[in-house]
Amino acid sequence: MQTDTYRHKGMRRALVKQLREKGIRDQRVLNAIETVPRHYFFDKAFLEQAYQDKAFPIGEGQTISQPYTVAFQSELLQLKPNDKVLEIGTGSGYQCTVLLQLTPNVYTIEYNRPLFEKARLYFRNHGLNPHTFHGDGSLGLPAYAPYDKIIVTAGAPVVPKELLRQLTVGGILVIPVGDEKTQRMLRITRVEENEFTKEEFGDFKFVPLLGRSGWSGGE
Ligand code: SAM
Repeated sequence: MQTDTYRHKGMRRALVKQLREKGIRDQRVLNAIETVPRHYFFDKAFLEQAYQDKAFPIGEGQTISQPYTVAFQSELLQLKPNDKVLEIGTGSGYQCTVLLQLTPNVYTIEYNRPLFEKARLYFRNHGLNPHTFHGDGSLGLPAYAPYDKIIVTAGAPVVPKELLRQLTVGGILVIPVGDEKTQRMLRITRVEENEFTKEEFGDFKFVPLLGRSGWSGGE
């Protein structure tokens, strides 16, 4: 049984203070980070690490993203209360749980079967209801498209065309794109049916996006 004590809440408040100092401004995003117990995604022995602003291994060679990155990507999405969001790379389920504080309409897809199963169990045990899928999210999730917002939480070699097609007009895609070492955070807005604008927001380091439109595309 996981508990969320005053100590944990205090550690989250300190983390939120750090994120504000690092430039996160969106109060709804900061509230979401303050609400979601990040230590629930860690083994008990790693409590201190849960509230450091760092990525951390979650098994299967993958990581739970750094809180700053989660907050930054969430802020770039400019979520409105009923937006339909697709997250690519469920991982631990932490980013998804943060998104669920901002809109109830979250679809999330994970490529790695054990991580998918673990995250699904987490959601069920915590009474959370995102739409969860196992599969190659580099192709998006066309069966449920279009989405108001799409967030990719793994580093892509290029912007997959399939994801652009699955945005509503006015929709936003947030995706880190680059090589294996470093990726540039992009925000792409579908301003008209056939017109997209691109903004760039600094360098990040993600695990690679796998799959057909990811790093395993040529295989
Ligand atoms: N959002 C996650 C969280 O909050 O814990 C962090 C995810 S981790 C940085 C990236 C995740 O993307 C990994 O779990 C990895 O298995 C997944 N992934 C990589 N390629 C994928 C693909 N083509 N489709 C879906 N998930 C993918």
